[in-house]
Amino acid sequence: MTLCVITRSPAGTRALGRAVGSCLGPGAVLALSGDLGSGKTVFVQGLARGLAVPEEYYVTSPTYTLVHEYPGRCPLFHIDLYRLEGGADLDDLGLPDLLGGEGVVAVEWAERLDRTALPAAYVRVRIETGPDDERTVRFTPCGDGTDTLRKIETVVKEKQWD
Ligand code: ADP
Ligand code: MG
Repeated sequence: MTLCVITRSPAGTRALGRAVGSCLGPGAVLALSGDLGSGKTVFVQGLARGLAVPEEYYVTSPTYTLVHEYPGRCPLFHIDLYRLEGGADLDDLGLPDLLGGEGVVAVEWAERLDRTALPAAYVRVRIETGPDDERTVRFTPCGDGTDTLRKIETVVKEKQWD
């Protein structure tokens, strides 16, 4: 079961992220993958708005700190593993405590994580670059992530995301 959405602008991807954020709650984990510049951070910017993170928080990739926390309806933990260099970083990050905890977790470059580091339930979000500004965003549940995917499907299905 994979949910596939096409966007044709950064605003479209942001709106998609916002819709997804509006339906998520504590414990939800999104594992984002896709090339550099595919739109993972743009998606998380929308996600933050959907979780009611105030507009004054500008969402950027936490490249040097690895994790940013934003206050919203529940906390949003935004993680970027692009510069991850070995297990020590992961311990510093406190990842096991964040995953499945009180907040929503969005991990960029999640493919750099060992499978065992991910929780029992999460949704993989893979973004592929197409011609021009087209992006294909695929949501796939992993483990018990099916419930979360159903919620996402409900809010995402009815609209066009251009
Ligand atoms: P990543 O976090 O995956 O490395 P970013 O979100 O930082 O990528 O950057 C995506 C780049 O692609 C931005 O410069 C954005 O303006 C551009 N872009 C063009 N079309 C789209 C689209 N449909 N969705 C998202 N980003 C897009
Ligand atoms: Mg990024």
